[in-house]
Amino acid sequence: MSTLTSLLNEECPRCRKAKMFVHPPIHWQDFTKMKETCPNCNLRFQIEPGFFIGAMYISYGFIVGIIIVTALTLYNFFGNPQAWVYTATVVVTSTILLPFIYRYSRVLYLYWFGGISYSG
Ligand SMILES: [Zn+2]
Repeated sequence: MSTLTSLLNEECPRCRKAKMFVHPPIHWQDFTKMKETCPNCNLRFQIEPGFFIGAMYISYGFIVGIIIVTALTLYNFFGNPQAWVYTATVVVTSTILLPFIYRYSRVLYLYWFGGISYSG
């Protein structure tokens, strides 16, 4: 499987066979629960204490992207509404996408900065 496919499927960056999270993202109560190690190759996902703090920078990027897309969409297709509409739309969109932002920030961070190479 390609790196992109494995990344989108939230799979282990080393073996690309097992999922990194316990539940699917739509499991609203527990979407943050991550496996400690890969059940297939035994890779420890949190490679050092506090490793995933860096994933906040990626989630920040996601939020900035949401703000830009929301602003361009509202301005161009909804006649530049009042400021509170922009704010409310960004808050609602970010809240709905929160599981995906949280999880893909961690997955991307591990794939980019984990220093783990594929060995399937
Ligand atoms: Zn693995």
